[in-house]
Amino acid sequence: MVRKLAVIGAGEMGHGIAELAAISGFEVAMRDVKQEFVDRGMERIRWSLGKLVDKREMTREAADEVLGRIRPVLDLAEAVREADVVVEAVYEDLELKEQIFKELDSYAPPAAILASNTSGLSITAMGRVTKRPDKVVGMHFFNPVMLMPLIEIVKGDETSEETLGAAEALAKGLKKTPIVCRKDVPGFITTRTIAPYMIEAAWIHHEEGIPTEVIDSALKFRVGFPMGPFELADQVGLDLLVHASEKWGLTAPPPMKALVDVGRFGRKSGAGFYDYRQGAKPAISPDQGKDFDVMRVLAPEVNEAARLLEWRVAPPEEIDLAMRLGTAFPKGPLALGDAYGLDAVVAALQGSKRHEPVQLLREMVARGELGVKTGKGFYDYRTGERTMTYQTIAVAKDPHTNVATLTLNRPDRLNTITDEMTDEIERALVELEKDAEVRCLLITGAGEKAFSAGADVTSFGGVAKSYALRDVSRRTTHVFARLADFPKPTIAAINGYCFGGGLELALACDFRLAAKKAKLGLTELNLGLIPGAGGAPRLVKLLGLARAKELVLQGARVTADEAHGIGLVTQVLENDAFEAASRQFAAKLARSAPIAYRLAKAILNQSADMATHSALEAESTAFGHVISTEDIFEGIQAMLEKREPKFKGQ
Ligand code: NAD
Repeated sequence: MVRKLAVIGAGEMGHGIAELAAISGFEVAMRDVKQEFVDRGMERIRWSLGKLVDKREMTREAADEVLGRIRPVLDLAEAVREADVVVEAVYEDLELKEQIFKELDSYAPPAAILASNTSGLSITAMGRVTKRPDKVVGMHFFNPVMLMPLIEIVKGDETSEETLGAAEALAKGLKKTPIVCRKDVPGFITTRTIAPYMIEAAWIHHEEGIPTEVIDSALKFRVGFPMGPFELADQVGLDLLVHASEKWGLTAPPPMKALVDVGRFGRKSGAGFYDYRQGAKPAISPDQGKDFDVMRVLAPEVNEAARLLEWRVAPPEEIDLAMRLGTAFPKGPLALGDAYGLDAVVAALQGSKRHEPVQLLREMVARGELGVKTGKGFYDYRTGERTMTYQTIAVAKDPHTNVATLTLNRPDRLNTITDEMTDEIERALVELEKDAEVRCLLITGAGEKAFSAGADVTSFGGVAKSYALRDVSRRTTHVFARLADFPKPTIAAINGYCFGGGLELALACDFRLAAKKAKLGLTELNLGLIPGAGGAPRLVKLLGLARAKELVLQGARVTADEAHGIGLVTQVLENDAFEAASRQFAAKLARSAPIAYRLAKAILNQSADMATHSALEAESTAFGHVISTEDIFEGIQAMLEKREPKFKGQ
């Protein structure tokens, strides 16, 4: 059982890791080499906790308790003496890290796990300077630690399965998603895959004089990435990028190295490819990149991800998930390759001087496995043959309760809804409707923050023409209508922000459960938009015109309790108990009589639109149908025997 953590380094990452661990209930010792560094780390933690209190995500007392669990220390031996796990987060320098691992090995209890937060240095090398290489592991957190949902767990050559398992469990205990990188390759999954994307862009800019804004615009507005390669490089730090990628033979172009030589590291130093000193953001507009061939920078990224597959570092869905969670890209590189076509990827690589398509890619193309268009690529798109694969949602079925959970799975983007997510929700609805094992559908959001913060407005950039946006609205309306008519119980488990399209989705469910911390609103008007997926009419039916106007026309955000007060949500549940309580709620509904539920729901849904006499007629007809089912005998029998009925849907 891990209870005590020691964090070595109180810098950018160290203080974040210490804060996260203390919030998650661990006792933490945080060590740095100078009092002022430890003090600064503590100050940053205090500031961050203060923010959580201001936003009412934590009480003042709880924040004080969290602070009370963090012990600032200068002495290394004292910091690690009682630790169950040590997380090292000092500068990215292998010699320094090896030196520290030697010391950690001599002072930490023999059973303690020693983890490094390195972004890509050799875990095996750090393990080998200790007498416990089986207990040395990579735990690569992302910046900012509190917000980023991923921890990459890295297996060194000698790391034991037991240690890997413990690191995974710890990541889950910190409420993060662990992805295991099973080979100690430089740069692991995330850094290694993302670097060629930025460095290739820099080469194209250098050799062909294509402006950075043109390339950034194309990736941002046409592919829907949150940042183009130059903005991202500035964010990551050009120094880190140039040095790290050299370790695996990827050379940056001379002008990029020159930027590092003069101290232009990116955002952190005030300037990199772009200048941030006046606080200005790079001016990148949607039409600048319309002629740039995005495949030129995407292909090297897909190639690197394919190489990791070849090396069996992780399965495709985990590589993609790591990339989505670690970089906030809407799609992982393998899914992206499948979408664009692997023949196009290979052609782009063959057209570049710097890249060779890996063997796996060449073989797939030779076999005609080109991605979505041929039904098979890195993923299988032929429906009904295997379990369906999704990129933006996750679907899990519990065979004991017969509840299917559909998780909106873009936690890095507050689970905002893209075209692809809408398509995947529809595919899932079709599958789940057919699946007799599924008796209830629970929809929720991945991560701690959001159910769904609405439509991904950045994806509107690519469809800036009004007719295209109109299509987006039609399509989403159609899919949400399908959800509203889904013939089994549906529940929106609103576990955080639920705005715009997110609330429209929830409104299409039969029930809405909200965690106390949730905030809700149809906030489209604040962006100059209007609800476009059935939100306004559904709200009027649910709450009446006056309340609907208050919400829509004022773009108001309400708390979970306020939402409950006006009838927008069915129940408000405590944050800590939310997941379990909503599962329980769903399990109960899953035990209802399927035919009766379907018919009652259809009648209720239709009644509002029908003349009373037609609705009465419809109800009688449905009643006539129910009365001939086996379930009704079971229902009555169970009542007489004072037991819970077991409905079969027959
Ligand atoms: P940082 O420079 O902000 O902090 C490093 C801290 O380590 C400094 O406070 C320094 O005084 C301290 N330190 C140096 N030697 C020490 C020692 N012997 N004992 C204790 N403390 C010592 O660096 P950072 O950005 O927090 O990066 C730390 C590690 O995390 C690196 O390995 C880096 O690659 C990795 N990482 C960084 C990021 C990021 O975005 N910053 C993301 C993921 C991983």
